[in-house]
Amino acid sequence: MAGITLRGLTKDYPGGVRALDALDLEIADGEFFALLGPSGCGKTTLLRTIAGLEVATSGSVQIGDADVTRLPPGRRDVGMVFQDYALFPHMTVTDNIAYPLRIKKKGKAERHAAAADVASALGLDGLLERRPNELSGGQQQRVALARAMAARPQVFLLDEPLSNLDARLRLEARTFLKRLQKELGVTTVFVTHDQAEALAMADRMAVMESGRIRQVGTPSEVFRRPASLFVASFIGSTPMNLLPGHVRGEGVVIAGETVLPLPDGARGTASDGEEVVYGIRPEYLDFSLENTTDMSKGTFAGRVAVVENLGSSSLVTLDVAGTLVHVVVGEGREPGPGDHGRARPRSDRALLYRDGELLNGRGGEMTNARDGGLMGERPG
Ligand code: ATP
Repeated sequence: MAGITLRGLTKDYPGGVRALDALDLEIADGEFFALLGPSGCGKTTLLRTIAGLEVATSGSVQIGDADVTRLPPGRRDVGMVFQDYALFPHMTVTDNIAYPLRIKKKGKAERHAAAADVASALGLDGLLERRPNELSGGQQQRVALARAMAARPQVFLLDEPLSNLDARLRLEARTFLKRLQKELGVTTVFVTHDQAEALAMADRMAVMESGRIRQVGTPSEVFRRPASLFVASFIGSTPMNLLPGHVRGEGVVIAGETVLPLPDGARGTASDGEEVVYGIRPEYLDFSLENTTDMSKGTFAGRVAVVENLGSSSLVTLDVAGTLVHVVVGEGREPGPGDHGRARPRSDRALLYRDGELLNGRGGEMTNARDGGLMGERPG
């Protein structure tokens, strides 16, 4: 088993595209690590550069104690699962799974025994003689995983491994993959553009933008304390309220006349009159029905504009003097459109940003699990 260390990793494609920009990252041995970011931010390039399918323009890739920057893919001891699975259509399941062992010049008996072993672990027993076009999407995905596992690599690299599955299978596959990874304990890096998938599956995750890492942390750190407005707007299935305002004394003035206390940890970080953005997730606002225009109580007060059903809760949009504030309200407590209500932020969950960067909640939130140091690029 082995961790992965990337130092100053840069990848320029012909034509001048800088897909990776002096990126530093440390992934611990045995970690399930997600790379998340919008289309084109460099996730796949990063994965392919770790695999050796792309050659770094500069910087280094270390797997375990070995510098593999100049080694071809076959000598890096990694197993990769591609988005489209890339199974060989003319080969049976067994031959697909055994392929990496054939490349390693293992004998037929050993190849088939290893393939049967892995196939059994992944629930593919009855399918060994089938060809890929005789399998469902979920089964093809398992064959691709089995092939990546067959040679027992030190590292798994998964490029959007769930994106070809329908919604229900995807949920099942998430749980399956997470359990499998924990059982095997193999360092695993997976690429996704789905923030919910990264939050649900990863031990830690990196959020990327334009070839750089904007934040590294556990899912709950990244969810609770996005280090920048970019990360804040990217994470969360109901988007965070990001409300422009300015500092006045110990408070923030938002949405006309609403004055909220400065979030915990934000005192002394911004001076009077400075323009800031107040961030609060819809889940961290307490809603109550109250017909009042009094705005002095450290709450948002306004009229309910829209109520959307989220299943076991509702997303209420409150019109606060023309500014829309979103609040998640529990089942049975939802107001109706036109009602007047208040939403009180939990100040231990409120965030304050200036120039796009988080002012409160630095420190322990962005540290690396292994060495306590800041990994990835510090924003700003
Ligand atoms: P997606 O989520 O859409 O797959 P991504 O985050 O994986 O995107 P990459 O595929 O790594 O992003 O691409 C990063 C940047 O490099 C993009 O601007 C892309 O257009 C560019 N790029 C990728 N592959 C090549 C290539 N072979 N030649 C030139 N440019 C490339």
